[in-house]
Amino acid sequence: MKIARRLDPLQDVLVMEMNMRLARLKREGRDIINLGVGDPDFPPPPHLLQVLAEAVQNPDYHHYPSFYPNQPLKEAIAHWYKSRFGVELDPTQEVLPLLGSTDALFLIHLCLLDEGDLALVPDPGYPSYEAGVRVVGARAEKIPLLKENNFLPNLDQIPLTTAQKAKMIWINYPHNPTGATAPPEFYERLIAWAKANDVFVVADNAYSEIYFDNQRPHSFFEFPGAKEVGVELHSLSKTYNCCGWRSGMLVGNKDIISALSKVKAHADRGMFYPIQLVSMAALQQGDDQFIAQRNQILQERRDIFLTGLKEIGLEAYPPQATFYLWARVPPKYSSLEFCFQALEQAHVWMIPGSLYGQYGEGYMRIALTHSKERLRETIARLKIFVQNNLERKK
Ligand SMILES: *Cc1c(COP(=O)(O)O)cnc(C)c1O
Repeated sequence: MKIARRLDPLQDVLVMEMNMRLARLKREGRDIINLGVGDPDFPPPPHLLQVLAEAVQNPDYHHYPSFYPNQPLKEAIAHWYKSRFGVELDPTQEVLPLLGSTDALFLIHLCLLDEGDLALVPDPGYPSYEAGVRVVGARAEKIPLLKENNFLPNLDQIPLTTAQKAKMIWINYPHNPTGATAPPEFYERLIAWAKANDVFVVADNAYSEIYFDNQRPHSFFEFPGAKEVGVELHSLSKTYNCCGWRSGMLVGNKDIISALSKVKAHADRGMFYPIQLVSMAALQQGDDQFIAQRNQILQERRDIFLTGLKEIGLEAYPPQATFYLWARVPPKYSSLEFCFQALEQAHVWMIPGSLYGQYGEGYMRIALTHSKERLRETIARLKIFVQNNLERKK
């Protein structure tokens, strides 16, 4: 038996190698500090756990999800977009609940791309965008996100022929892995550019509720004309520390919402009803205080780590959002070399920037999903590791 060639783009040798190394060190009993995991270390809000616990107890709530109307969840999503971003959505035609945003993040390419089509994806960027593009037989062209441009794509530098050929572009602010955010002017320019070149925009807004210094990130739909040219993904995963629930949403352009719901009618059977109920509670009785307190803790962690990196002599970009730090590896090292050595010698795991694309080379991503004490310990370990190795490299 031979696996279909279609899946060739999903081969990820590097990820396998990372997992093997982590597993080996764990077997050896090493105390690994894993700053690779993009999954919050805090629990979800207690009042939501209560809703979930009660719902699961109901013996009537364990049928196929199609047994229950999901209109109330769609309305809760529309309500949240209105209260959070001031964006009006038609719950029936412009909202689609997802089994986590990863659900649409992968399947949406079936709706937008034919074989041989061109899609634009950010570099560095979340690897699943490119994987989804290539699995449907389309081509992914990388749009560099450079520090000089605050990790935003320079739309004016995309050649006209490329822009006109492209069917879609992936946008992700607040950005994984750099932590960059996008200002209103960027979205306005993006909408004009997308209209002029007939490129469909898919905006991944998974991190909109993890932000610092009271700088609330935007939704793509806050800007006029967005619904004609795009859709946006959002997720409860990062907002309410509940990555395991698998609850997300796609909103915006009704043609794509309708196309994706056709795909999903075959690809899954909907969302477990208790998860629908707890998602509605989260979206309707949004807990600003919970989010503010969580973000405050993350901000303190960010500041501790930034100060620590500075002391060690490693350069990092202070993020305005997300729980990631995007830091430079020392000169003379590749990302991979530095991160693997830090793992083996300091037992600290950070993700090599090259995993996110060629423009991620020279960087590493640090997830602040550990306590302050643990982060201080990380800095202490990195300090010794860097001192030892930089001496040797000279
Ligand atoms: C975490 C994350 C998501 C959210 O994934 P879910 O499937 O909703 O849990 C989406 N996009 C990016 C870039 C992420 O890092």
